Amino acid sequence: MASQWKPVSELANDVQSGVISASELVEASLKTIAAKSEYHAVLSVLEASARARAKDIDTRIAKGETIGKLAGVPFIAKDNFLVFGAETTAASNILKGFQAPYQSTAINLLEAEGAICVAKANLDAFGHGASTENSDFGPTLNPHDKTRVPGGSSGGSAAAVVLDMVPFALGTDTGGSSRQPASFSGCVGYKPTYGLISRSGVVAMASSTDTIGTLARSVEDVATITDVLAGIDELDSTTIQRETEGYAITDTSLKGKKIGVVKEYMGEGLDPGVKTAIESAIEKLARAGAEIVEVSIPSLALSLAIYYILVPAEISSNLSRYDGQRFGYSDASATNLEDSYVKSRSHGFGKEAKRRIIIGTHVLSSGYYDAYYKKAQLVRTKLINEFNSVFESVDYLVGPTAPTTAFKLGENANDPLQMYLADVMTVGASLAGLPAIVIPAGSSEDLPVGLQLMSPAKTDNQLLNVAAAAQKVMSA
Ligand code: GLN
Repeated sequence: MASQWKPVSELANDVQSGVISASELVEASLKTIAAKSEYHAVLSVLEASARARAKDIDTRIAKGETIGKLAGVPFIAKDNFLVFGAETTAASNILKGFQAPYQSTAINLLEAEGAICVAKANLDAFGHGASTENSDFGPTLNPHDKTRVPGGSSGGSAAAVVLDMVPFALGTDTGGSSRQPASFSGCVGYKPTYGLISRSGVVAMASSTDTIGTLARSVEDVATITDVLAGIDELDSTTIQRETEGYAITDTSLKGKKIGVVKEYMGEGLDPGVKTAIESAIEKLARAGAEIVEVSIPSLALSLAIYYILVPAEISSNLSRYDGQRFGYSDASATNLEDSYVKSRSHGFGKEAKRRIIIGTHVLSSGYYDAYYKKAQLVRTKLINEFNSVFESVDYLVGPTAPTTAFKLGENANDPLQMYLADVMTVGASLAGLPAIVIPAGSSEDLPVGLQLMSPAKTDNQLLNVAAAAQKVMSA
């Protein structure tokens, strides 16, 4: 299917040089969003503010001003980013109607380069999920098959890109939420090194693994966006210095690149159709000159268990701020403060948020802390050490993104453990803070399969270059 969007840097050049106006790009985007509303990729549309921004950019260009790297380029932000001009709900009833008092740094940086936020994307409430079915406002449908899920939690962002609503979308990735929907829906999904992109103004899920994700049609576009977003932000103390002055694709050769195939990801539990697609993708990398070896990271077998102890623990802490007093939903029938806490949280939170609060408070409680939380932290460190030692012999890791292709709506919705298994190949990079990217790599039974690449922390630019080379080889 041909896209209506050129690479984002070309779009910006076209707008700057008057080949097309920002208003035309925004109208094209709004039209596609409206035409494909049945997929429910989007929770709200910022028609008024997007049109006003486009008009302003067009006027400034007419006056001879230079706008920026993303002049007039429309995008969609996952609805856990604070954005002026629409509600920020994180797809949870408890935040319904919430208006951002300030904007997230990522949005400010994109706008400073001339990009225009046209809509907010659907997600699993607070980012908890792998299918977008945990959205309190109804699921998003897979762009390739409306009876299937688009992945999650950034399912709306991925679907929006694949449905051609926008050239790129922002997501978040705490345990795979930008990569797995990219694999299920068929686009590029990138998770940066922990701390590379500011999370200020993004609804917190699990602070030790939360990252900002980018979903786009090409790795080149991801590099352009990363160049705008990466680096220190005084509003997020976990941010780190960017490793390069400019994120750009300059080396698209795979010759001599040492890539390790993660043994633990290729074995039991991997759907045979996905396995075949991934094996043939890896063969293509080898034929293009990459040096492929098998590597083992034994503690990956424990990564899902570590993740589902540590992440709920952090979630239980981060969600404590939704108490019905300061913002969001407050139950009007409450008779006193205690009653207000109980009723507001009982009615405001969905099932999955409650499940995670219960697990999280349990593993942090006295008597269980040492057995669960502390042990999980120790094994997390062991996992990080194993990643580090593997990176002494290879520069990149490769493997599948998820054990299956997009599953049917409802198939795993009532089975949390089955749903959690969708994350088994993505949580490792999250726990270790590594950059990881997913590129389309063929299909299985007409459903997309994404190839995942990872590299050491703070080597995002290298990873993007190798991924761009891989994307070229995949589509050749
Ligand atoms: N599916 C994972 C979870 O439910 C990852 C979510 C995410 O990255 N936000 O926790």
